[in-house]
Amino acid sequence: MIPPPFDYVRASSIDEAVKALSEDPNAKVLAGGQSLIPLLKLRAVAPSKLVDIGRLKELRYVRQAGDGLAIGALATHAELERWSGPCGVLPEAARQIGDPQIRSVGTIGGSLAHADPAADWPAVVLALDAVVKARGPSGVREIPAEEFFQGPYSTALQQGEIVVEISIPRCPPKASYVKIARAYNDFAIAGVAAAVWVKDGAVEDVRLAATGVGLKPVRLKKAEEAVRGRKISGDLLTEVAEAASKEVEPVSDVRASAEYRRAMAGVAARRAVRRALGL
Ligand SMILES: Cc1cc2nc3c(=O)[nH]c(=O)nc-3n(C[C@H](O)[C@H](O)[C@H](O)COP(=O)(O)OP(=O)(O)OC[C@H]3O[C@@H](n4cnc5c(N)ncnc54)[C@H](O)[C@@H]3O)c2cc1C
Repeated sequence: MIPPPFDYVRASSIDEAVKALSEDPNAKVLAGGQSLIPLLKLRAVAPSKLVDIGRLKELRYVRQAGDGLAIGALATHAELERWSGPCGVLPEAARQIGDPQIRSVGTIGGSLAHADPAADWPAVVLALDAVVKARGPSGVREIPAEEFFQGPYSTALQQGEIVVEISIPRCPPKASYVKIARAYNDFAIAGVAAAVWVKDGAVEDVRLAATGVGLKPVRLKKAEEAVRGRKISGDLLTEVAEAASKEVEPVSDVRASAEYRRAMAGVAARRAVRRALGL
């Protein structure tokens, strides 16, 4: 289908983009366009104006920052797939998104702002305890990933705000992202990201987060409790799977029933922890 008519502004600075967005409550940011353009064509959204931030080079970076990373909102999935520094879970997750064409233009900031309940990055940034930095008319706001996702396609972003950076405070020594999908690179039926810290053969700390198994990405706090402080063993993997399956609240859709998603949440959690631990 042909999109409805809209005005188009190509921003040449972040300030210009924020101003253009703030002036029009029905304006939308355009980044890689891999989610927004299909929605426009389906006429599922009808913004009055698109504010194209795609050429803002200052938002396109991945760099180490202390023990963690700073990722510009316009870093593409492909750029994160090629990242070879700490937080190796980023390339592992990136390569599971869509296909090479989508990865070459789709951005991490766009994926987070779109907040598809089955998208991959939301689970990863939750497990990494990331902070989403948003720039708006009154300056920069730091939003913890746990507060950022509010529901299906709904975030804590306010009118006029643009995601500018994703800040990861510390890269975990061991981490993994496992996605179970109908076909390789389809949206997740269940995806689990695991970040694990190990000391003396036991799990010192762990963060687990899931996508595809609820109305928004979630921390798997009960599954974390089942693992934290425990000696590494096969029993631990069984318990993490059981706890993850029990605590999620999936819904049925065209891809999978709620029951199947619940079972796959357990499988993905088990595999993610096992892979993170290198077992
Ligand atoms: C065939 C297909 C397969 C896909 N497979 C997967 C998959 O397996 N896993 C997965 O996770 N995703 C998948 N996607 C989605 C894809 O990864 C998109 O790239 C991503 O969801 C959106 O990023 P974008 O840069 O293209 O954003 P856009 O499409 O440009 O924007 C998406 C939304 O976010 C807003 N937005 C964008 N950037 C910002 C910003 N910096 N600040 C504030 N708001 C912003 C826009 O206004 C819009 O509402 C797939 C998409 C397609 C078409």
